[in-house]
Amino acid sequence: MNTYKSFLTEEEKKENRKEYLETNKDILREYNKEYYETNKEKTQEYYKEYYETKKNTILVKKKEKVTCQCGCNVVKNGLKRHERNKKHINLMNQIQ
Ligand SMILES: [Zn+2]
Repeated sequence: MNTYKSFLTEEEKKENRKEYLETNKDILREYNKEYYETNKEKTQEYYKEYYETKKNTILVKKKEKVTCQCGCNVVKNGLKRHERNKKHINLMNQIQ
């Protein structure tokens, strides 16, 4: 495939793409709408199922606790925030 297109610069390609989108705006919009309408239920079903299966894992993960260097039990998700709070800093100063 040695078309003239392979000689286009990145900038020109971007420009072409913009032009393409602009010219086909309505078609694309229509297409997206149609696509969304046909797949709406499927997508919603999929996400619902995905969420249901993941729910427990997500909840467990959110509550998962770790012991910080300072000795505090901290929710894993909040460890970074905990490391910045005074309690942690004070305890760390006492340890050192
Ligand atoms: Zn700590």
